[in-house]
Amino acid sequence: MLVDLHCHTHPRSACSALQAGQLVRLAAERGLDAICLTEHDRAWDEEALAALRAASPIPVFHGVELTTDLGHVLAFGLPPQQYSPVAAEIARAAQRSGALLYLAHPARDGLLRVTRETVEYFVSVEAANGSDSRIQNIAAAGLAKGFRLPGIGGSDAHTEAEVGRAATRFHMPLRTDTDLLEALATGRYEAILR
Ligand SMILES: [Zn+2]
Ligand SMILES: [Zn+2]
Repeated sequence: MLVDLHCHTHPRSACSALQAGQLVRLAAERGLDAICLTEHDRAWDEEALAALRAASPIPVFHGVELTTDLGHVLAFGLPPQQYSPVAAEIARAAQRSGALLYLAHPARDGLLRVTRETVEYFVSVEAANGSDSRIQNIAAAGLAKGFRLPGIGGSDAHTEAEVGRAATRFHMPLRTDTDLLEALATGRYEAILR
């Protein structure tokens, strides 16, 4: 099952030109089996999420991309009340809630801000990012080898053209956010560039 774990939609991510309805339609057309919304620093409200899910041909999961002092962090299973720009706070909240944190596009700005201590906040990194260059993805995939879980993949789509460029392959069917979190925790998945 191919899941794009990194997607931005308009207007919840100001930098995105992609409507959520277009995202799910294009994702299905391009062979993805599910997507995960990861807006910048904000959650979807329950009502809007339910409406999108009802209209979507594929499952829609919900995560977030938080802008933090250690760079961009993809968080899955983190309650919106726990969103924070301070990575240490997010890490504490993730421990309490069972959320999983991944360092997003870790090779993008050429400067890894994590230290020997703060790297422990993350179960892994985003090893395939559809908006990054080939060399950045090679570097990210190399980094992923040192973590507890494998690296994940996602398009980081902000436009229609970018939908489906990268994804994560899972070996079990996923329908809910809980399924996604459990599947991530097993570590039985791979990052895919497409
Ligand atoms: Zn980012
Ligand atoms: Zn992003």
